[in-house]
Amino acid sequence: MNAEIISVGTELLLGHTVNTDTTIIARELSALGIDLLFSCTVGDNAERLRAALREALSRSDVVITTGGLGPTGDDLTKETIAEAAGVELVLHEESRQRIETYFKGRYCGENQYKQAMLPKGCTVFPNDAGTAPGCGLETDTGKVVIMLPGPPSEMELMLKRYAVPYLAQREQAVIVSRMVRVFGIGEGAAEEKIRDLTEGANPTAATYAKENEMFVRITAKAATEQEAAALCEPVVREVCVRLGEFVYGVDVESLEEVVVHGLQEKGLHLATAESCTGGLVAKRLTDVPGASEVFEMGAVTYSNDVKSMLLGVPEELFPAYGAVSEPVARAMAEGVRKKAGASLGLGITGLAGPGGGTPEKPVGLVYMALSDGTHTWVRRMDPPGRVKNRTWVRDRAAHYALDMVRR
Ligand code: ATP
Ligand code: MG
Repeated sequence: MNAEIISVGTELLLGHTVNTDTTIIARELSALGIDLLFSCTVGDNAERLRAALREALSRSDVVITTGGLGPTGDDLTKETIAEAAGVELVLHEESRQRIETYFKGRYCGENQYKQAMLPKGCTVFPNDAGTAPGCGLETDTGKVVIMLPGPPSEMELMLKRYAVPYLAQREQAVIVSRMVRVFGIGEGAAEEKIRDLTEGANPTAATYAKENEMFVRITAKAATEQEAAALCEPVVREVCVRLGEFVYGVDVESLEEVVVHGLQEKGLHLATAESCTGGLVAKRLTDVPGASEVFEMGAVTYSNDVKSMLLGVPEELFPAYGAVSEPVARAMAEGVRKKAGASLGLGITGLAGPGGGTPEKPVGLVYMALSDGTHTWVRRMDPPGRVKNRTWVRDRAAHYALDMVRR
C-alpha cells in the first residue's frame, strides 16, 4: 500500500503553525511498511481541498487528512470528503453522547454537535483527548480516506490507538517495531557498522539521527504479533552487539529514564553540581517518575565564589587552572557528593558561549566529573568543528553527562 497526507489548515500556510502532524504520521506509516508518496498542505477552502483530494485518490491507496474536523465554520474536511466520495453525513449517536459528556456542566454550543456528523458507513475513531472524532472511510473504488483532527495531541493519540490498527488490519498483517537508542557515535559511523542489516525487507532496519543521538528502528510485518516479534529479535540483538557500548537502551523513552532506573537497580544516590548546563541535568533526571528515590540534590553553582563556598572547591584552583578545567570539575563532583551525602557526585563546568572562548579553551569545551568517593572519572567534551549555539552546547553537555552516569 502507498499513502499520501493532506494537511488542512490556513494557519499552516501562513506559517503560524509548524506541521508536526505530518512528521508523526510519516513515522507511523514507515513503521507500518506503507510508502508515503506525497504530502501537501491546503488552506481551509473546500474547492482546493476537493482538488487535492481528487489528485491524491487518483494515485494513492490511502489518503490521510489532518485538521478541519472541529465545530467552527472553517472546519469542512468531512463535508468535502463525504461529498467527493458520494456519501452523506449522518449523526453518530455515540460521538454525540461523548461530546455531551465532555461539556458536562459547561456551555456547549449547538455547533459542537456538528462534530458528531460523520460519513455514512465509515469506521469511527473516538477522540480520547478532545471532542472531534475522526474516521476511516472506504470509497467505492477501494481507496481509504482517514480523517484525523488537527491538534497534535489529539491527532497522535487517535492515530496510534485507532488509525494504525485500522490500517494494519487492512494490510492483514501485524507490525512490530523495536527502537534501539544510541548515543556517542555519529550516524555515518553507526550506519557503516550495521549497513548490511539495513538492507533487509522484513524486518527493515533504519537509522534516524536526532540532535545528539540516534535511533535504529527495526520493523517486521507478519501474520501474528509473535511472528513479527520473532523476526525483529535477532536483528535487534545484532544491532546491539555491533553498536556495543553506544547503545543505551531498547524501547526506552529517554537517556534520563535509563539513568534513573540504573541508579535504582544499583541502589545509588546522585547529587549534581552544574555550571554551564544551568540545571539541565537535574531537570532531565527529575522529569522521570521515581527520580526522588535516587536524586539527592542539584546545585547550579555559576560563580567561582559559590563553587568554593558551597562545594568546597579550593579557591586556588581558579587562578591556576581556570573555572573550566579538569581539577574544578573534579572538585565540584566530590564537593556536591559530600554536601549531599550521596553515593555519586556529578560536576559539570564548561563554556557555553557564544563569547568567552580562547584557542586553548574554545566555546563548547566542557569538563564533567563523576565521583563515588573512591574514584573520580573525568570526561572532556571537545567541541566538534562547528559549534551551533549556546542551547546546543548545553544540551549536548547534559547528554554527555547523563551518558557518563549511565556507564
Ligand atoms: P479543532 O476541534 O481544534 O478545531 P480541527 O480538527 O478542526 O480541531 P484545525 O481547526 O484544523 O483542527 O486545527 C486546530 C489546531 O490544531 C490549529 O490551530 C493548530 O494549532 C493545530 N494543527 C492543525 N494542523 C496541524 C498540523 N498539521 N501540525 C501541527 N498542528 C496542527
Ligand atoms: Mg478547527
